[in-house]
Amino acid sequence: MFSHPEAEGHELVQYVRDPSCGLRAVIALHSTVRGPAFGGCRMWPYASEADALSDALRLSRGMTCKAAIMELPYGGGKTVVIGDPARDKTPALLLALAAAIERLQGRYVIADDIGTSIDDLALMQQVTRHTAAATLAARAPLPVTAYGVLMAIRAAVLHRFGRPDLGGLKVAVQGLGHVGLPLCAHLHDAGASLVVADLDPKRTAQAAARYGAKVVEPEAIYAQPVDLLAPCALGGVLDDRTIPLLQATLVAGGANNQLAQARHDAMLAGRDILYVPDYIANAGGVIDFHQEQRDDRPDAVLAAVARIHDVTLDVLERARAAGATPLTVADRLVAERLRPRGPAGPGDETRGSGSGA
Ligand code: NAD
Repeated sequence: MFSHPEAEGHELVQYVRDPSCGLRAVIALHSTVRGPAFGGCRMWPYASEADALSDALRLSRGMTCKAAIMELPYGGGKTVVIGDPARDKTPALLLALAAAIERLQGRYVIADDIGTSIDDLALMQQVTRHTAAATLAARAPLPVTAYGVLMAIRAAVLHRFGRPDLGGLKVAVQGLGHVGLPLCAHLHDAGASLVVADLDPKRTAQAAARYGAKVVEPEAIYAQPVDLLAPCALGGVLDDRTIPLLQATLVAGGANNQLAQARHDAMLAGRDILYVPDYIANAGGVIDFHQEQRDDRPDAVLAAVARIHDVTLDVLERARAAGATPLTVADRLVAERLRPRGPAGPGDETRGSGSGA
């Protein structure tokens, strides 16, 4: 267990079981150095318990990186529930899970993710206050992740092409779900032209009708003659097979864990393809959570998420100056910000502002 390939210094991994409602879940807290761990609850019919554990470990580490790179006072956590949300997600299961979250006494704040919704969190609030989306305004759907990805794309285009606008930019969007479709809307509004792929023909038809997107087969998305590829479907899509196909010189998207392996970062750089680390581009959710507790009006939330532009630009500029990849630079910044600190002294600026929820 401790030598699991995805276990990278996780503080706590908890297995939760309640046969009375069929709950089988893994809660992984990667880090609480900067504050309580924050991260979504994914419910998925995992093929094996090992797959569920790997997902929890990998995604919780990603949450730590998102909060640290944005200098927010949170750590990273993730819950995965083994089951089919359409069939197995009952109020009893959600309340049993909420009781497990409550037992962590605020070390972890749970949010929604694939297979769970803001309504599920509202139900869980009967048992625990350690959930996201606790305010009424925060329960209105706001595609913060897509907006954050747009900000990362703007920064990458400015850095690489010296252009502050996206007019005429050719973008390939892979996956048209909660992130990909609203991203298409933003890109279309900004004057970019789109090529899209999804497994679901209804979604591609929507993108074609609304945003004039050209539709290609899922496998053809990598080789499109575009400026930028935005992976917004599954993780692990950038690998030995797909990277040589890319014609884009920029990659920035919403999917978690886009690189199949860490070495694929160097492979992209070797082809002079600028890769915006996924955990910067898709950090909109944790910024949203932080902002909701101060001012949860949509304008205020989007203004906070827009910080992804400046953080992306900063990392890209540091990388250029250091002759390193953006991911190497971002990982270094994250590591610095996770170093356990002694009592605060003069010049102590790296730690977040408090322990939060
Ligand atoms: P979603 O399930 O709403 O949409 C994913 C879409 O990708 C679906 O339409 C699916 O048909 C499509 N897809 C799956 N495999 C594909 C393939 N091989 N080629 C093309 N399309 C394919 O998911 P989402 O919420 O939009 O999330 C997308 C990605 O972004 C995931 O990796 C998720 O972990 C990550 N992410 C999402 C959020 C969020 O706020 N929703 C936040 C951070 C990261």
